[in-house]
Amino acid sequence: MGRRSQLSGIGAAGPVDVPAGVIAPLNLTAWRDGFAIVAAVRELFPGAEVACAIDGACLALAEYRLGGLKGTDNGLAMTVSTGIGGGLVLDGRVVMGRTGNAGHVGHIVVAGDETPCACGGFGCVEAIASGPAAVRWARERGWSGADGVELARSADPIAVKALNRAGSALGQSISSAVALLDVDRVVISGGFAHSGPALWEPLREAVRRHARLSFIQDTRVQLSTLSDGATLVGAGVLAMNATDSNFKPLTCEVGEED
Ligand SMILES: [Zn+2]
Repeated sequence: MGRRSQLSGIGAAGPVDVPAGVIAPLNLTAWRDGFAIVAAVRELFPGAEVACAIDGACLALAEYRLGGLKGTDNGLAMTVSTGIGGGLVLDGRVVMGRTGNAGHVGHIVVAGDETPCACGGFGCVEAIASGPAAVRWARERGWSGADGVELARSADPIAVKALNRAGSALGQSISSAVALLDVDRVVISGGFAHSGPALWEPLREAVRRHARLSFIQDTRVQLSTLSDGATLVGAGVLAMNATDSNFKPLTCEVGEED
């Protein structure tokens, strides 16, 4: 492989197929059936080194290098926003998985068959605790607000209940994730994560109730201190680390030029 002067990092909503260079974001209708993003970026920047990862992995990378996961080698970065995503740092490395989708925490199942998820499954935490899901639940019960920001500010009992339900579901998913992964920190970002105590109190209560094993009792769950651009920062770090021996992103093999 020749030396390349340009680096491009792509952080994409998932699911992704990193080895194929294709993304198929659940919450981005136009690309839901697959978009060959690596080929498109290579066309725009001929000769550039293109690194692609799911947004959750980029977020984990940003948190690990610059944010709330700095100083630990085992952590989970989550985003709670339009969807719920995440990325993992395990044993000091951002984990990608087979197809680049490791850390897809939004589809941990916390409820039953009565709660359909956009992924086609049922009971996923994203179907209960994403901003739009909580808003939808409240509106179906008569609350008249428009979005997650209004929901967080509302004193209406239905809004409070929607946030309680979302926080509780998030806490359950976090308990399952930390038991599975043996991480000591969970850092949560995303617009809906900033909903305040009405979300965070039931979240912490659910973690206390469910995370009982000794190795997860002292896991810290905290709000991210990074800005909304953390995923972009992570994509930049990804690009710069694409050739770094400490960090091995999955590479897209399609159309690789030499
Ligand atoms: Zn799902």
